[in-house]
Amino acid sequence: MTHLTEYTLMSIKSLFFDYISSESLQNSKTHEEYFVSTLQNAMNSKDAALFKYENHKFVLLAATAGFYQFNRIVKQQNRVEMHDHEVELLIPGEFLIVIKEEKNAFSKEFYEKLQSECDQFLSYFIRLFNKKESDAKHKSLYQLTEKLHSTMSKDEVLNQLIFSLQTMFPAHLFYLFLSQDNENIQNLLIKSLDYEGNYGNEKAMEAYLTGDVQWELSKHSNQLVVYAPLKGNQGVYGVLEVTQQNQSDLNSDVMLIITSLAKAAGNALENAKLYEQSKKLVSDLQLINETSQRLNKNLRLIETMTFMSERIMRSFSAEEVGFYYMNEERQPRILPGSTPFFHKRESEPYINLVHSKVSQQLEGMFMGEVRVNESSEFSSLIAIPMIQSEQLKGFAIVLHSDSYFFTFEMFKLLQSLIHHSTLALMNSMLREELEQLVKTDHLTKLHSRNFLDESVQSSLEKDRQGTFILMDIDNFKQINDTYGHQVGDEVLIQVAKIMKNSIGEYDIGARWGGEELAVYLPQGDLAAGITFANSLAASVRKETVPTVTVSCGVAHWREGRHDTLKRIIMRADKGLYNAKESGKNCVIFQEDIEVE
Ligand code: GH3
Ligand code: MG
Ligand code: MG
Repeated sequence: MTHLTEYTLMSIKSLFFDYISSESLQNSKTHEEYFVSTLQNAMNSKDAALFKYENHKFVLLAATAGFYQFNRIVKQQNRVEMHDHEVELLIPGEFLIVIKEEKNAFSKEFYEKLQSECDQFLSYFIRLFNKKESDAKHKSLYQLTEKLHSTMSKDEVLNQLIFSLQTMFPAHLFYLFLSQDNENIQNLLIKSLDYEGNYGNEKAMEAYLTGDVQWELSKHSNQLVVYAPLKGNQGVYGVLEVTQQNQSDLNSDVMLIITSLAKAAGNALENAKLYEQSKKLVSDLQLINETSQRLNKNLRLIETMTFMSERIMRSFSAEEVGFYYMNEERQPRILPGSTPFFHKRESEPYINLVHSKVSQQLEGMFMGEVRVNESSEFSSLIAIPMIQSEQLKGFAIVLHSDSYFFTFEMFKLLQSLIHHSTLALMNSMLREELEQLVKTDHLTKLHSRNFLDESVQSSLEKDRQGTFILMDIDNFKQINDTYGHQVGDEVLIQVAKIMKNSIGEYDIGARWGGEELAVYLPQGDLAAGITFANSLAASVRKETVPTVTVSCGVAHWREGRHDTLKRIIMRADKGLYNAKESGKNCVIFQEDIEVE
């Protein structure tokens, strides 16, 4: 070899060495281009090109500017071919280098040496590059796994997975198959896992069901498709579909990375799901806890029930909530806190349905397609009985117009909420019942005198006028003496009933004491008060058996005058006294005497 060729070979060698040690190995493209330009420059040749033998043909990897693709490149057996101004170096197995010389400056011997140098460089470089690439992949694999484990959102896990895979393996196509409850994830290529398999994804389904990786040759393009399950410890959450594109590699290294990523994603999805579940559980427990605390605070029944109703509406996104208790005749009666729908006739069919079911089975109802009649408004229904000492005490009912709106978890939650609340609710109802007892007279079931006093007092503070009527049964002693005390009691009850039936919703009938009763008509004007007293007296006269009559004293107050409870009572009492004096069985109004 001449000095020149010796020198050229040396300088190519050192350039290659410099390049390898320079650490500037960015990607394979740069290295291929560097390779051809180094050859061209060092040999002062016209052009150079590098081919790779792949799938039975040569593929151009890099070439200098003036190079055009040869048609007649044929794979030769491990040798250097020299044609006019052109040399082909065939590096055993993989590469073909074509060099176009200006004039025949280099010998065959030179080219054989060059071949060996290029062989060393290329194979060393490929090893180095592969290592770098796989290091980088392992690094991003590690980073991704870290990321997946630190997120608690399903969407984020899947987005991260696909983004990383696409970045690491741009030559592959990734799809996700997810079970139906995960389908609403944004911005991802997601196919539905179809249980009937009519989309031709039986392999995906198989991977989902078995939890093992599945393979398949795609029908149209003969490409390999891999299905890697997203598998956690407790189940499979989806399947990752990987399709090789453009004859790219789907070798065992790549596969290992992809399947381990799928597994990491499966675990992360499982964590996210468990986290969501535990969050839900915590908020469920909070609901139950808060409600029982409220119930134990001895609030009024109406406040407790309103609170419960609001919480249920919110937690269940319910449209209507109703509470019922079973009265003495074992019929459901509405409780406070129930939404307006339950005060309407249209709610009756639902109540009847629930009542008949829960009273038979003492079990909750969970329905997604309720039809109570033609115009059935609500399709979803949850009903939970309130049971104490194995007896039906009442029930709660929750409604929504959409079909299958409530989940089974909601049903279980309401069940445990009602279960925890029943005792406190029943106690609270018992307490209110007791209070009612104190407020009412046992024999007549009219209000107590105390309650009447309070009512007049508060009316004096907020109303503009009111009428007070004091009523005494005439010659009652005689009834007792003639028929006995028991009949006396019954007559008293009769008069009380007549009074109750004739007063309005806001009027107050009370037992004043003995055979004396009283009525207060808040906002009632004087004329109406006297008319009312007369018609009440007439009814008593007509309806009692044995017949009794009553005498009444009427007092009236109105805004702007100085008046007190005591003075009103005194006037009514005076009226009553005058009525008795004037022969009983009549009504007398006692006028107010202005006090200066
Ligand atoms: P007058 O027309 O003047 O009111 O005559 P009277 O007999 O109704 O009045 P008096 O005050 O003399 O008698 C009231 C009687 O009412 C005395 C009492 O035994 C009776 N009495 C009071 N409370 C009850 C009760 O709860 N049940 C019964 N059976 N009798 C009662
Ligand atoms: Mg009396
Ligand atoms: Mg009397």
